[in-house]
Amino acid sequence: MNRRNFVKAAASATAAATAANALPAPAGAATLETKIVRLNLQHTWTTTMSSSQYRDTLHTAFTRDGITGHGEGAPIVRYHEDAVSAQKAAESVRDVMLAADPMQFTKVMAGIFRRVPGEWAGKAALDIALMDWVGQKLGIPLYSYFGLDPRDAPLTTFSIGIDTPEITRQKTKEAADFPVLKVKVGLATDEPTIEAVRSVTDKPLRVDANEGWKDKEEAVRKINWLEKHGVEFIEQPMPAGMLEETRWVRSRVHIPIMADEACQRASDIPKLKECFDGVNVKLDKSGGVLEAYRMIAIAKSLGMRTMLGCMVSSSVSVTAAAHLSPLVDYADLDGNLLIANDPFRGVTVEKGKLILPRKPGLGLTAG
Ligand code: MG
Repeated sequence: MNRRNFVKAAASATAAATAANALPAPAGAATLETKIVRLNLQHTWTTTMSSSQYRDTLHTAFTRDGITGHGEGAPIVRYHEDAVSAQKAAESVRDVMLAADPMQFTKVMAGIFRRVPGEWAGKAALDIALMDWVGQKLGIPLYSYFGLDPRDAPLTTFSIGIDTPEITRQKTKEAADFPVLKVKVGLATDEPTIEAVRSVTDKPLRVDANEGWKDKEEAVRKINWLEKHGVEFIEQPMPAGMLEETRWVRSRVHIPIMADEACQRASDIPKLKECFDGVNVKLDKSGGVLEAYRMIAIAKSLGMRTMLGCMVSSSVSVTAAAHLSPLVDYADLDGNLLIANDPFRGVTVEKGKLILPRKPGLGLTAG
């Protein structure tokens, strides 16, 4: 063996050894890990629904053929979910995940959706892990799997939770890098909240009432007041069940009304067309990337605006949503920016613009 061939042989032997070390299980054998991760919030987070200093989300890791796909679901109390119930749901289909061919992900997730009632966050954690795995297996970023251009990713808003005027001003200043803000309202303090934000910035605002206004005339009055204060659209002004009232409100205001709590899955969307201008799609509500993609397609086919939102969660869930963001009009993908102990890095934000990772799958790295 001459020197050149010796070097080549040594290099390929090293590569083979490295590849062997990277394979924790024999080809074909799969493993699934589920665990609850406590995410600490930088600020106490208050909306009309709750107030908290941390959130527990379900994290999953699906490994097969030496590839690990990561998933996450943030349970939503409104849908009677918590991290423990999400984990139980994911564990209840462990046999399906381990036996399935992950390249048949549409069939696999359809089977899991049939078998598991509710528990959308638990299902999202499995779907996201599968889609991360599939992207890595194919060697392409998830946005490429859906045929999207990462340069089309929209700006994301940064959300300001409900707080005292003083802290609202401070949070608004901290969000200096974001060209558009989303402000939570829906309590008795709506006007002071908006005035506090406006005392610091004249940026466009988007406002989320989280079903907070129960009276349709109050909703019209508030929305018209918000329009005068540079608000671009209002999210879920009235309770999800008050569709007729929301339709009435929509006919009396000028800015778009987006459905969030009223719109969980694709099958919800057709009945919302007369009451809302658009829908806020979240992976934690829909049960993952696949259903979120269907929701965006259906909303677009009905001529509705589309938005991707998120819960307070780590970069796993937010990055998965961000891979679909080139499809939508608006993004509110800041859940990972609100926490202090993100276990991963994925999508990043530059001056409000979502920057998608270019690596295969979700493109996550350890945080
Ligand atoms: Mg909302």
